[in-house]
Amino acid sequence: MSGARVLLVDDDAALLQALPEALHLRLPELVVDTCDEALEALRRIAEVDYDAIISDIKMPGMDGLALLERVHAIRPSTPTLLITGHGEHELAIQALRGGAYDFVKKPIDRDYFMASLARAVQMRQLSRQVEQQRLDLERHAASLEQKVAERTHELVAANRAKDKLLRQRDQALDEARVAAERLQVLQHVTDTALTHLDLHNLLSELLARVQGALRADVVAILLLNGASTALRVRASIGLEQAVGEEIALGMDVIGQIAERRRPYIVDDLTEVPELIPGLRAQARSLVAAPLVVESRVIGVICCGARATGAYTHDDAQLLRLAADRIALALDHARLYQEVQEAMREQRVGRLRVEELATQLGHQAAELSAIIEAMADGVFVCDPSAHITRLNKAASTLLGLPVGAAAGLTVADIGEMVQLRAGDGEPLAQADIPLLCGLRGETRTDLLTVITQVRTGMEVRLRISSAPIRDQLGNIVGAVAVSRDVTELDRLERQKDEFLSVASHELKTPLTSLKGLAQITRRRLERGGHTEAAHLAGMERAIVRMELLVNDLLDISRIESGKLALRTEREDLPALCRQVVEEQTAATNRSVHIDLPADAILVDLDADRISQVLTNVLSNAFKYSPTDQSVTLRLRQTADEVRVAITDRGPGIPKAEMPYLFERFYRVPGIDVQAGSGVGLGLGLYISHEIMERHGGRIWVENNPDGGATFTIALPMTARLRSVSIPLKVVNSTQG
Ligand code: ADP
Repeated sequence: MSGARVLLVDDDAALLQALPEALHLRLPELVVDTCDEALEALRRIAEVDYDAIISDIKMPGMDGLALLERVHAIRPSTPTLLITGHGEHELAIQALRGGAYDFVKKPIDRDYFMASLARAVQMRQLSRQVEQQRLDLERHAASLEQKVAERTHELVAANRAKDKLLRQRDQALDEARVAAERLQVLQHVTDTALTHLDLHNLLSELLARVQGALRADVVAILLLNGASTALRVRASIGLEQAVGEEIALGMDVIGQIAERRRPYIVDDLTEVPELIPGLRAQARSLVAAPLVVESRVIGVICCGARATGAYTHDDAQLLRLAADRIALALDHARLYQEVQEAMREQRVGRLRVEELATQLGHQAAELSAIIEAMADGVFVCDPSAHITRLNKAASTLLGLPVGAAAGLTVADIGEMVQLRAGDGEPLAQADIPLLCGLRGETRTDLLTVITQVRTGMEVRLRISSAPIRDQLGNIVGAVAVSRDVTELDRLERQKDEFLSVASHELKTPLTSLKGLAQITRRRLERGGHTEAAHLAGMERAIVRMELLVNDLLDISRIESGKLALRTEREDLPALCRQVVEEQTAATNRSVHIDLPADAILVDLDADRISQVLTNVLSNAFKYSPTDQSVTLRLRQTADEVRVAITDRGPGIPKAEMPYLFERFYRVPGIDVQAGSGVGLGLGLYISHEIMERHGGRIWVENNPDGGATFTIALPMTARLRSVSIPLKVVNSTQG
């Protein structure tokens, strides 16, 4: 009952006064509000949730029943007690049906009223408690429901998160596997790049790696040509027949890859033009990537598969990464090849240079040897007219020891030798050959006579000189080559002399023959007779001519190697005797003969040895005074037989001896003492050749007491040379 509050509604002021007091006495904790008007009561009821309402059933303006209905509408659970007057029993029944809690008849039975009110208040409070508990339960249930819903939601979310995590984990694992595979592919590509520097091997290895990594049926590497106008298929698996083909860079797929520097996927190759010859026959889809090094495109790599749409974005990315490494590897290989090439070229160049240096060395040595061995003198000077080279012949010419030319100038040479022109006039400074060369003039065969100042030796030279120019044509020196023509001139003079002598020698007997013939003819015309002396004269002239002609014929035979010998075993002393007899009979000269009594047999050509003996004997007669006798002596040594013919003539000057057995050589200043004709200078030459042919010798010595001794020696054994061997011309032979 504590805190209970009730409303008393009645228009009876006394009751409104008395009843609360009575209630207070019995139920002191009860609060009683009063109201004498129905509308006011309804307002309060709306405001306060009373534990019970006590109302008179009869009220002016609104009776208790109507009030009850209105109260029910506002507070359906609040118990209402109606106070009824006398005779209002029916109304009371109605009120109970209308939902009133109880009714109390006037005069009010206080105990009943109190007990009913107390029950109503208790019921109200209980119902309020129940309501409260119901509300509490409802709230609790709602909160539980909320919690269950939340938990369920959380569980579902957790479940979803778990699934998502699982999916993410699987995906991450897949990605990790793919990434590992790719890393492996890239590692293989890198390994390949590192282990192969040879471009050919590298290309085929890289193709194999990429084919495996992208499960390709066709792989091709195309490289840009030098002008960057076309791609050339350098290597391929599956498209080998296209290797070497050039594909011009257009705006097709390949061209775009090269230009845009991005990978490219073609899902169906039948929808694009043919990219590489034969590609469509082998593949339906394609992935390709550019090969880029330091932002330079060097080519394109393509992978083709038989299935359409075989390649994904990931494949393109993988190929791009591989392409970067391949490009780098190719560039390294190219650099390596370039380095190798450069090294090879350098090596070849070095070898070539060494070879050239060796060749040059050889050539220089060869040239030096040739220059040194040349019979001609070689003089070289630098632009300042300093002598830089003199060969051996040139040094000899100047009378210098070999190698003594260092530091000499052209002017110094002028002090060692006197230079004269061919006509004997001193050579002008401007005509000195090396100086002409330094001025850029070329002169040939300038006839010069030089005389060594020190020895007085005179040499006739023909000198040619020329400038030495470098590659730009600048004069860097001069060279002069001198040919010693002293000997040539001598031979030339000899030849001239021979011609004049020969014609004279032939003309003399011819003239006498002609004269004698004319005399004989005239005599015969006049009816006279021929004189024997004339005929004998004619005969001598003919014999003389015959001898000359025979000598000339022999010369030509010797020169052509056709001087034939008919050797037989002959008695040499007998042969000597015969020759002496013939010569003495013809000349009336006396010869002292010193011959062994016994025969000495030697293999010889009797005619030719007779010719030699005759020539030497006739020379002895010819060049010695007629009153002087001539001696012929035969001596035999261990291996040869010698015949020496000694005269009392002038002898042979020592300096002339080396030339005595040469063709046409006649000792100047030796006059013919007896006999006809002056001779052609051929007899001794022919004799020398005949002796050589016999394997023998001929030489001359001056006698201590004047005159000369010519000796011929023949070998005792038969050592005669074959006639077919060509003859050698020997200048002289001395015993
Ligand atoms: P030629 O027909 O001139 O006599 P030879 O060849 O027989 O030719 O002799 C060559 C030269 O040698 C002669 O011209 C002569 O000057 C010299 N000569 C040869 N024999 C003698 C000699 N016995 N005494 C001196 N001089 C000689």
